Amino acid sequence: DDNPEYNAPVAVKNAVFSKVPTEPLQGNLHLVCASEDCLKNVLELEHTVAETKEFINFIAGKYLPEGGLTVSHRYGGYQFGFWADQLGDGRAHILGEYVNSKEESWQPQLKGSGETPYSRFGDGRAVLRSSIREMVASEACYFLGIPTTRAAALVVSDEHKVYRDKTYSGHARPERAAVLMRVAPCWYRLGSLEILDKRKEPHTMKTLVDHIIKHYYPHIESSDENKYVKWYSEVAVKNLDMVATWQGYGFTHGVLNTDNVSILGLTIDYGPFGFIDYYNQHYVPNTSDDMGRYAYYKQPDIILWNLEKFAAAMEPILSEDEKQKIAEFRSTLSEYSKKIILKTFLLKLGLQEIQDGDDSLVQDLLQIMQQTMADFTCTFRQLGEVEPKELVNQTVIEKKWSLLKVYESKQWSVWVSKYQDRLCKENVTEEDRRLRMSQVNPVYIPRNWMLQEAIADAENNDFQKVRFLLKIFEKPFETNEEAEKLGYSAQPPSWSYGLKLSCSS
Ligand code: AMP
Ligand code: MG
Ligand code: MG
Repeated sequence: DDNPEYNAPVAVKNAVFSKVPTEPLQGNLHLVCASEDCLKNVLELEHTVAETKEFINFIAGKYLPEGGLTVSHRYGGYQFGFWADQLGDGRAHILGEYVNSKEESWQPQLKGSGETPYSRFGDGRAVLRSSIREMVASEACYFLGIPTTRAAALVVSDEHKVYRDKTYSGHARPERAAVLMRVAPCWYRLGSLEILDKRKEPHTMKTLVDHIIKHYYPHIESSDENKYVKWYSEVAVKNLDMVATWQGYGFTHGVLNTDNVSILGLTIDYGPFGFIDYYNQHYVPNTSDDMGRYAYYKQPDIILWNLEKFAAAMEPILSEDEKQKIAEFRSTLSEYSKKIILKTFLLKLGLQEIQDGDDSLVQDLLQIMQQTMADFTCTFRQLGEVEPKELVNQTVIEKKWSLLKVYESKQWSVWVSKYQDRLCKENVTEEDRRLRMSQVNPVYIPRNWMLQEAIADAENNDFQKVRFLLKIFEKPFETNEEAEKLGYSAQPPSWSYGLKLSCSS
């Protein structure tokens, strides 16, 4: 886009990015937190740098590295099943590309850094609460093994206020604005192509896709006559693999629109997401998702729906033969998705091969958990801490609060004997089972109640809890004494039951 320094909403044509300067965060600024790992291993900065005035101002969007330029990305998307037309980075600025000493290339991006041509009705800002949620959860997902964008640092202002969530009387409380620095190899989404299809810009689409293949899928040869088929297939598989990890951790994205699905298969846009506490396959974290379109159990199907739209968006650059090949490939995706999700759950049970009857082994357990409202994370963790034959012994499982839940079900003993038989069939030793399960079933996940508590403290400029959470989630599979004292692996407090989040952020 050749409208430099343009900060007002506009329908952009024939462009993938708009050059647009940040609108720095005003007032007295604080560093809320920084990810030690992201700074060190991605941006190769010492953690101590984060406390400096210079760094805080940098995150606030006050200046750029010499010769730097900020851009906002143009994309569209299907929101809740309907084409929403131009969306784009309405409050985000990409700072360029950073190649670290490992030859990895990363794009730092500020979120909440002011208006852009894509702001539509928004103010270009982000509030502290949702910025903390994105910061902590995206780093936690990274350490859990969920493919995701990263978060480097978060800065908040004392005086710079924004307004969200008007009540019926028309009032909204002032909230402090924050800027988050996120990092990803690139920020392209399915919607990056969709806008170019709907606006009939096939030439730009071809240029963009060739660029993406060259830089992010370099093993696909530019001379390969099937390069677009291969690329589509890889984007699809990466996203299905990502969703399988979500299902395995009870992660529910909340707003799985096509503009929030990355072409790298990374979890992107942490809005009203949630990790399931007590198991309920219909779990919906977003208050405005009345129809439950983005419920936990629907995520695998929704990704397939999104990938169907993505294949349609690519049509202007495909030959008839390529369209045919992509259609054939697409017909295998549902089966593939089911298989990797089953595999994910088998690993959570300490099993490694798929055998006959495994689907019902997993489904029966989930059904028992659903009936008894057992905690998703803790049931799997605790299953790996008790010998299978003792799972029906109440005195032995007494200390395992989540197992006591499933124990309430009449079906439980039947399931336990099925599970024991199945372990025998694969010759899994108890030692192996425990070890495997402790490596895939976390002790700690970013539960809404934990985030809410940390947010409440942060609103009063006490950032200890947020920083502690970041620390804990670096090792989510290891019990931590301090975290135990705070009840982070215990039964969530009753006030947090059914907690939902609004889209406003
Ligand atoms: P999301 O539902 O978070 O994926 O956002 C949908 C679209 O709204 C994206 O284009 C965002 O950039 C834009 N958006 C969300 N919040 C704001 C805001 N406060 N100011 C400007 N644009 C926003
Ligand atoms: Mg988004
Ligand atoms: Mg969002």
